[in-house]
Amino acid sequence: MTQSDPATYRTLGYLATITVERLKGVGAVTTRKLHDQGIDSVADMLLTVPRRYLDRSHMARIDRAPIGEEVTLGGTVTSFSKRRISRGRTMTEARVSDGTGTVRVVWFNPYISLEEGEEVALSGKVESFRGSLQMKSPALDRLSLEKDRNTGKVIPVYPGVAGLAPSKVKDVASNAVKRSLPIVDIVPDVVLARFGLLDRTTAVRAIHAPDTYEDIAHAKRRLIFDEFLRIQMALRVRAHDAFESQIGISNAMRGPLIDRFLASQAFVFTDAQQRALEEILDDMTATTPMHRLLQGEVGSGKTVVVVAALLASVESGFQSAVMAPTEVLATQHYLGTERSLSSAGMAPTVSDAGAAGTESMFSQESTAARPVRIGLFTSARVTVNFVRGDVSRTQGLVWLEDGTIDIAFGTQALIQEGVRFRSLGTTVVDEQHRFGVEQRVVLRDSGAGGSVPDLLLMTATPIPRTLAMTLYGDLDVSVIDELPPGRTAIQTSTVPNAADDEIDLTVRAVVDQGRQVFIVCPLVEDSDKIEARSAEAEFARISRSLPEVRVGLLHGQLRSQEKAEIMARFAEGDIEVLVATTVIEVGIDVPNATLMVIRSADRFGLSQLHQLRGRVGRGDHRGTCILAVDASGEDSVRRIEAMTATNDGFSLAVIDLEIRGQGTVFAGSQSGAADLKLGDILIDHEILEVARSVATDAVTTDRSGPFVSGVIEEVGLLFGRDAEWLSKS
Ligand code: ADP
Ligand code: MG
Repeated sequence: MTQSDPATYRTLGYLATITVERLKGVGAVTTRKLHDQGIDSVADMLLTVPRRYLDRSHMARIDRAPIGEEVTLGGTVTSFSKRRISRGRTMTEARVSDGTGTVRVVWFNPYISLEEGEEVALSGKVESFRGSLQMKSPALDRLSLEKDRNTGKVIPVYPGVAGLAPSKVKDVASNAVKRSLPIVDIVPDVVLARFGLLDRTTAVRAIHAPDTYEDIAHAKRRLIFDEFLRIQMALRVRAHDAFESQIGISNAMRGPLIDRFLASQAFVFTDAQQRALEEILDDMTATTPMHRLLQGEVGSGKTVVVVAALLASVESGFQSAVMAPTEVLATQHYLGTERSLSSAGMAPTVSDAGAAGTESMFSQESTAARPVRIGLFTSARVTVNFVRGDVSRTQGLVWLEDGTIDIAFGTQALIQEGVRFRSLGTTVVDEQHRFGVEQRVVLRDSGAGGSVPDLLLMTATPIPRTLAMTLYGDLDVSVIDELPPGRTAIQTSTVPNAADDEIDLTVRAVVDQGRQVFIVCPLVEDSDKIEARSAEAEFARISRSLPEVRVGLLHGQLRSQEKAEIMARFAEGDIEVLVATTVIEVGIDVPNATLMVIRSADRFGLSQLHQLRGRVGRGDHRGTCILAVDASGEDSVRRIEAMTATNDGFSLAVIDLEIRGQGTVFAGSQSGAADLKLGDILIDHEILEVARSVATDAVTTDRSGPFVSGVIEEVGLLFGRDAEWLSKS
């Protein structure tokens, strides 16, 4: 998009380059105060939307003002005074009459200044004070300052700016509008028409100087669309440049290995698993690199889907890397895969470490008979499935580099310096939200032969669709939204946190049936700052109260060797009750564990509780979850209620978002979604979908056209440094 004469070509982006100081009536002081509110440019001012509106035709009569309710009253100032009260504060007092009655108004704001005889509107709660009406710190509108006011007009009330009278902010906004209109629209007319969107000029005018309430709603819809469009366009461009336009690795079509593997499993894939596998295989065989998120509840069968898909890579002569956030999880993925390869008759023959030597074991066996060689790389050990016992790290790295190892499992250690693959075709990252954008970049660039490897991210954290689109809009998403048949819903109940005896009885009964128990605590050790159960104290307590039960303790402060040992003993059934912190949150699979006790459950977030609960009921036996709670605040009561009401991770995720608000999700995120001031991903999901499809269309059909570059330029100009994440594809 060329920026010709700015005077005739005012885009929002251009207005973002003009400081508010250039507006009439805005000096250095006002500029500084607006800056503190994040309003620096004319565009910032235009995008500062009134908090609410006053409809002057609907003001209440003072004599009929309902006590205790929010109302808008209007009238003439009959007296005005200020006086100092305690601690240097100033009280401002006025009396306002409308002919039917008088209201006393007080503010504790030294900046408010009124003149007798001027007309004002006041919005707030009416109280009765010593027999007369009073309002405390109502929103104030100085109607007399409205030069072009007319009755019935809808008056905007702007968000507070410390040190500036509300009417001042209104003047600045009004000047910004006058100075800016008409704004050249960035969105093509056909798109506006198709989705019934106002043009920018009309929308900006209506938001700041509406004639009717209906105007405001339409204008908001357009501004919300713009917010979503900026994010979606940026994400789609990023995906296009980093993946869709790159030459990827084109794997062979699905061959005999996958079918053999699937046929050997004790179960058949659910429809959802089948669909996800097909979507992944489609991506892997395509010439553009895969960039996909696989989402599915704990136990929905993601891991088997991924292993099946990786066999396509093996068959095509490419290697894969599977990264997990913890060693425990990486080890578990490795062991699970080793087991399923063995039962499919696809494991290589095992030789002794000495015999294997350092010689390359890589050979081009025919695909159908091809054994699959896998390895595990953690900081503690390197293991492979074709040599007995652990091998040296150096040896492991050699086998990666010469292509002997087909699939390498590991932690971040897999992408460190010195790790080289012969032909990396696919990278899988489990629980990818634990890895940053930076690491995604490293992963993309570590591909063999200069091509971009396929990238598959996995998460067991259910994310509402619209949130996923906003956070990960540059990813394609597959969702496994169905659990394997026969899984019974986990039964969840609550007990008071103090009910140790009751909990112990239940634990004891479960252990007597030969099942195992998790007890999760929010803290490792007791703290004098936080009132909650600690794993150490609980371990000591339950060891004492149930001396005949074998109890283990697992937390993040243990050495990784110890953690692995304890997990292994629990998996083998040697430990019957595992007292742990949230280190067990992700992915641990012990089908014989049927009871999950969460101590001080009100200390955990909703998605964490749900993840924890998913650790039980993974086998044939019904899972039970006991939430031990202390009486506490409203939000934690809502979380606990939601947990007992449903097992569905996606509904819980929506409730979680409602409780926390989207700001908490986006704070500190690099997604750029912090740009959402008006739009709400839950409420405005339809507009979000529209913006998403508009952006996708635009990028696919004309990546370097004026629409796409116009929006991207606008993002850069509006958000400046904050938009740097954009350039990190
Ligand atoms: P996730 O990775 O999503 O947590 P997994 O792939 O680890 O799930 O599968 C959890 C358990 O369910 C494993 O023991 C696995 O063998 C089993 N499983 C997976 N898919 C099915 C299926 N379609 N039917 C029955 N059991 C399955
Ligand atoms: Mg798994």
